[in-house]
Amino acid sequence: MCGVFGIFGHPEAANMAYLGLHALQHRGQESAGIVSSDGERLFGHRAMGRVQSGFSPADLAALPGDRAIGHVRYSTAGGSHLKNAQPIGVDYARGSLAVAHNGNLTNHEALREQLEERGSIYQTASDTESIVHLIAMSKKESLRERIAEALKQVEGAYSLLFLTERELIAVRDPRAIRPLCLGEMPGGSGVAHVVASESTAFDLIGARKVRDVAPGEMVIISAEGVRSEFPFAPEPRKLCIFEHVYFARPDSTIQGVSVYEVRKAFGRRLAIEQPVEPGDDLVVIPVPDSGVPAAIGFADRARAPFEMGLIRSHYVGRTFIEPQQSIRHFGVRLKLNPNRAVIEGKRVVVVDDSIVRGTTSRKIVKMIRDAGAREVHMRISSPPTRWPCYYGVDTPTRSELIAASHSVDEIRSYLTADSVGYLSLEGLVEGVRSIEAREGDAATPRPSADSYCHACFSGSYPIPFTPAAPNRQLRMVTG
Ligand code: 5GP
Ligand code: SF4
Ligand code: MG
Repeated sequence: MCGVFGIFGHPEAANMAYLGLHALQHRGQESAGIVSSDGERLFGHRAMGRVQSGFSPADLAALPGDRAIGHVRYSTAGGSHLKNAQPIGVDYARGSLAVAHNGNLTNHEALREQLEERGSIYQTASDTESIVHLIAMSKKESLRERIAEALKQVEGAYSLLFLTERELIAVRDPRAIRPLCLGEMPGGSGVAHVVASESTAFDLIGARKVRDVAPGEMVIISAEGVRSEFPFAPEPRKLCIFEHVYFARPDSTIQGVSVYEVRKAFGRRLAIEQPVEPGDDLVVIPVPDSGVPAAIGFADRARAPFEMGLIRSHYVGRTFIEPQQSIRHFGVRLKLNPNRAVIEGKRVVVVDDSIVRGTTSRKIVKMIRDAGAREVHMRISSPPTRWPCYYGVDTPTRSELIAASHSVDEIRSYLTADSVGYLSLEGLVEGVRSIEAREGDAATPRPSADSYCHACFSGSYPIPFTPAAPNRQLRMVTG
């Protein structure tokens, strides 16, 4: 998964992009990059790791101009290497162009083969580069026509930002799988326009969210203002429901609804579908941070106290020190420590958003038991994750997904929990719809169960993909 941010018409464009990316850091920590423009040239800086470590004040000072786009990356297509960091920048016959992409192209392997046959030389291993080649090859006059022509040839999920000397163009794929929203704030001599994966990026810089970018919409921002085009044939809307489950920050709004409220609704439904016998000795604890809102909803509906039974360290990076003598649950304990005061002697409901491999959840159950819990009941605020994602979320292969090959009871046994309960697919979809019906924006049509992608839970993929597309490795590796 990745995050994108763009701004046009602000005297401190690169600084704003830096802050915007900081707010989107949860969407990718592998690399960060910003490309700015002063209207005549493009200036770029990309670095491995997080935004804060990758950009010094001097790096930002070297990014002049009143417009910029930025990207935080979590590798899906292409390996972890600076070459694959975004925004990708190129000089081509018509000028310079930078691109930042969130999503995954499903026909990338086929496209790349065709393009390489026609003479394209790839600089990166990322699927995004195919879009650049298609734009460079287009015979159309204007950039927006070239982008439209290129994107008509790609399939998959994309929220894209393009920056040239003159324009910032934002495009969302026709199914609107990945989020993208527009905002505005006071700029140099008028209004500055901003665009970001999530609205939380606007909060930090004092921008106001105007709306979500519509499915298939191309937003063209230039000195003349903002205008929209819809160059693609319409497709059914398929917003990624996993954004609501896990990916987006809870303080963001998507399609006018609060991600936090949706997660609480998942928790309330989970308490109805998968109840735990009530009693004075029952306590509901989240796996922080991802399980917190759902645990609040669960506790509310189950009329049981919500407690912080696992305390999270906020200082976990990579650890290079591993004691030679084995320490129980060492890896997980670096991040999470059970809070014996609220667990001991209790029947504990542990709420998390999802189980992927099950390895973390198993250690958590053991830690809670070791801290004196009488019973441990695992509750998951989404259905079993059984299928990999081909649209930009880095889920492991099917063989690594515990729910792909194990029944709920087998998972319970592996986790050594007293019970395990998942939210149903119907409950998940109804959870989002209940909040959308309550607070959704009037401009967005009332969603149906069909308006979401839930393929990682249901196996019902809205876009066909070329299976087993191997991640292309870079053969030439340079600094
Ligand atoms: P497991 O028990 O499967 O090892 O880990 C479950 C945890 O992984 C949950 O707390 C969940 O929030 C987290 N998780 C779910 N999806 C993702 C993802 O795409 N990336 C990362 N880093 N964590 C995830
Ligand atoms: Fe989102 Fe899952 Fe669909 Fe991927 S498969 S886009 S994670 S809902
Ligand atoms: Mg988690």
